[in-house]
Amino acid sequence: MSLLDHSALELLALLQSNQVRAEQVVTESLSRIEQLDPPIGSFLHVNHDGALAAARDVDRRRHLGQPVGALAGLPVALKDLICTIDQPTTCASRMLANFRPPYDATVVARLRAADAILIGKTNLDEFAMGSSTESSALQRTRNPWNRDHVPGGSSGGSAACIASDLVPLALGTDTGGSIRQPAAFCGITGLKPTYGRVSRYGLIAFASSLDQIGPMCRSAADAALLLQATAGHDRHDSTSADVEVPDYLKAIAQPISGLRIGILRQQLDSDVDPEIHRAVTEATYVLKSLGALCQDIDLPHSQYGVATYYVIAPCEASSNLARYDGVHYGFRATQLTAAELTASESADLESEGPLVRMYRRTRETGFGAEVKRRIMLGTYALSAGYYDAYYLKAQRVRRLIRQDFDRAYQQVDALLGPVTPTPAFRFGEKSQDPLSMYLGDLFTVSANLAGLPGLSIPCGITVQGLPIGLHLQGPSFAEPTLLRLAHAFQQATDWHARRPPTS
Ligand code: GLN
Repeated sequence: MSLLDHSALELLALLQSNQVRAEQVVTESLSRIEQLDPPIGSFLHVNHDGALAAARDVDRRRHLGQPVGALAGLPVALKDLICTIDQPTTCASRMLANFRPPYDATVVARLRAADAILIGKTNLDEFAMGSSTESSALQRTRNPWNRDHVPGGSSGGSAACIASDLVPLALGTDTGGSIRQPAAFCGITGLKPTYGRVSRYGLIAFASSLDQIGPMCRSAADAALLLQATAGHDRHDSTSADVEVPDYLKAIAQPISGLRIGILRQQLDSDVDPEIHRAVTEATYVLKSLGALCQDIDLPHSQYGVATYYVIAPCEASSNLARYDGVHYGFRATQLTAAELTASESADLESEGPLVRMYRRTRETGFGAEVKRRIMLGTYALSAGYYDAYYLKAQRVRRLIRQDFDRAYQQVDALLGPVTPTPAFRFGEKSQDPLSMYLGDLFTVSANLAGLPGLSIPCGITVQGLPIGLHLQGPSFAEPTLLRLAHAFQQATDWHARRPPTS
């Protein structure tokens, strides 16, 4: 039995009642990372000394009877595109491989204020662009349930470290599904909050109108705990919402009887894997038996979600990533000698000059293939002559997608469906075929386009032994409802308690 078999809330109770010390919890977490993470590869950086020092400080203050924060002594892992002043922040890109931010993200500052222990930084698809963590330029992360399969992405490292019980809590980010999809693939709970619920100050931007930070953990109750500590208005982020933060832990204790759930029948009956269809359908029976009222509901425009997302997200990315020019941040391609230049570069040299050539070489060698693909797609879609046909049109469809949700939420309190059409796929299965990778985002992107919350919880395991995710979505700031439904489901089932085989 490891201390980390306990949920975050259980650990907190043990810490608060002085049955365990923060140093013990952190030592256990560090030694599990050291022993179990090498074959999985969740972490890009482990804050060994910093975490131990912070834990000892919490223990000292608790011993002296001084006040400690709401998460005092709990290890938290951070997706490595959230800025930390004392640890590298790489975005899993060569471009930022040696980058140390000069400041903490607001979520990091809040976690420090809550006395959480920042244990390390987790792997992701480069700049969060991807669904498998295969586009990380730094390392491969494997699915703890089956190492031949991807952990999902882009928050694959955060999902994998939770699934292997290396830490009780992690933060991920979700621009088109990157919290919910890896949560589904790794059999954990992941919540994408409402756009604006959690400050993004210090989150390295991918697509600013879509990005959101959210909790990844083993249960809805733990997600409530982590959301509580990170949510709330921040004057440093103009898109953060000045909306009161409710008591999430109190909310989840409410019964769900009478809550109205819309089943996304079209999604469920589309081309989803039959085992996912079965598990999600069975989950509706569980929720019904707890008193939820179910009816079928349709989001007619969500079928255009992927097309819309893959115009808007690359457009915003092409603009956000323009700052990586070899001057402002991180990596710079070194000057090449004349002998190292390709023939075409030698020809270009005449026309473009050394500065432009440095920009070009920096971006050519600093970014990986997927990031370049997105920059090119976005630059193309935003260029004169194409702007109206692509970007403007996508914005119009985005509004229709939002209107579908608004209409649905006049009739129901939450929507239920699958998170993904398939369980975790194998390495290489989709990485050579971007379109098939993108199509896997079908069920998750609409919530981002509409700015609404979505939650993924485990609801089954395939015959092959891979987890299945259940998607619950809600209207703006309905995190309490989603967490409450998820908690009720987790009280009635044990899917969230299943662990990957240890071998
Ligand atoms: N899979 C989606 C993409 O590749 C979503 C990524 C994300 O949410 N960061 O863009």
